[in-house]
Amino acid sequence: MAIERTLSIIKPDAVAKNIIGEVLTKFEKNGLRVVAAKMLHLSRKQAEGFYEVHIGKSFYQPLVDFMISGPVLVQVLEGENAVIMNRNIMGATDPKKADPGTIRADFADSIEANVVHGSDSIDNAKQEIAFFFKPEEIYSR
Ligand code: GDP
Ligand code: MG
Repeated sequence: MAIERTLSIIKPDAVAKNIIGEVLTKFEKNGLRVVAAKMLHLSRKQAEGFYEVHIGKSFYQPLVDFMISGPVLVQVLEGENAVIMNRNIMGATDPKKADPGTIRADFADSIEANVVHGSDSIDNAKQEIAFFFKPEEIYSR
């Protein structure tokens, strides 16, 4: 079992609904640890850069607009197989397809306003963590 790190974002819908604590609890109850966190209100340029893999898709501009509509909480999660573990805790992108008990099944309103972002591979996690955090901003035991 490998200890990994992954990037997680609590999106503007969840911050507005005042459920930051409930979302973080899901991570903690499932063995992941918050090792860095900050609240940010992303600029359009930051959101466009962060989601550049989705350029050209129909949902790209609405996604950017949504992600800058209010503050987000960005965190690094650490634990055994953190990348896949986080994806499992999040549930499917579309909350209607998400398994019961997942964050998106429990809290998401729509495929767009779906509460959380999570890195989808170990390489992607490294890139996304570096997008938001300097190494010295991440707690290491
Ligand atoms: P994720 O990795 O599960 O977050 O999903 P993706 O990487 O495929 O998409 C990134 C984000 O774009 C999702 O979390 C949604 O907020 C949004 N999104 C994805 N697919 C759709 C879609 O078909 N319609 C809309 N409106 N938003 C979408
Ligand atoms: Mg994704």
